[in-house]
Amino acid sequence: MVSEPFVMGRIRKPGNVDLTHTHSYTSKITKAATCTARGYTAGKYCPDCKTWISGYQEVAATGKNTYKTTTTTKAITEKDGKIVTACTVCGKVSKTTPIYKASSIKLSAVSFTYNGKVQKPTVTVKNSKGTTLKNGTDYTVTYSSGCVNPGKYVVTVIFKGNYTGNKPLTFTILPGKTSSLTFTQTESSIKATWKAVTGASGYKVTLYSAKNKAIKTIYTTKTTASFSKLSKGTTYKVRVTAYKTVGKDKLYASTYTQLTTATKPGTPTLSATAGTKKATLKWNKQTGATGYVVYMATSKNGKYTKIATIKGNTKVSYTKTGLTKGKTYYFKVAAYETVGGKNIYGSFSSVKYAKIK
Ligand SMILES: [Zn+2]
Ligand SMILES: [Zn+2]
Repeated sequence: MVSEPFVMGRIRKPGNVDLTHTHSYTSKITKAATCTARGYTAGKYCPDCKTWISGYQEVAATGKNTYKTTTTTKAITEKDGKIVTACTVCGKVSKTTPIYKASSIKLSAVSFTYNGKVQKPTVTVKNSKGTTLKNGTDYTVTYSSGCVNPGKYVVTVIFKGNYTGNKPLTFTILPGKTSSLTFTQTESSIKATWKAVTGASGYKVTLYSAKNKAIKTIYTTKTTASFSKLSKGTTYKVRVTAYKTVGKDKLYASTYTQLTTATKPGTPTLSATAGTKKATLKWNKQTGATGYVVYMATSKNGKYTKIATIKGNTKVSYTKTGLTKGKTYYFKVAAYETVGGKNIYGSFSSVKYAKIK
């Protein structure tokens, strides 16, 4: 069968040839058969006289596909991709393999406490079937610079291979625990002082009652904070938490320091009464006092020595015996409060004297 779909110029059938010149033959047009389309063998054509000497032979479609496997759609974190094996000519698909989306992208840790070292949490990526993807093949990971000081850092998972897109993850390095917290007190104030925490932007300092009720919070960039207008001889707790400011957020240390302290007890009003070889001292009870200390000297501006410690806040008197007749002794007393194993002393009373009988 002869067909002539691509003919240019005149056509003459064999046997009806112009013999006025010698034809030069060439294979002008060919078309290979494909899997689905028929082809044609070359006919004999003379370009000089533009004459087909013989026609073409049709070749049937081969029915043989040329398969190639390609990733036609890369997976993104929200959607599966696919690998398709298809005929490059007719597009017939022989196989489709899904690329399951990377549905679980996690850091080994999202929060650290500053320790002076670089923190780089590792990344684990799993597809929706729970299979772990491979770093270097399926993705690479980059970290923000630094990753040492308190702050917020970004880890970016950059997908590659059968996956595309990227996923930023964040982690924080928190300031450390506040240390060396000490107090200085008056009857109506408590001043807290502590050591600066590396990388901290500031401190949250909260005053609590002995029963843990928050009374006041101070935010400061300094390493001291003072609470005033407090009641004397009263136990309080002070908590100091360092923070790092990142944009509008404060990254608080996960550990804080909290200590119990107290305002000084009040100042007793003392009276001294001379007796026979003795002096009787009395004073008024001070709120919050754990006890009292009594001092004595043999001259008003002389050296005072402690002659008694009265524990408890029930007894507010003391009799000093064994004194010398006719001699004058000088006394002063102070209340103290024991808090957290430490004694906080109130101010001394005015000095009172007694001339012994
Ligand atoms: Zn010719
Ligand atoms: Zn095909």
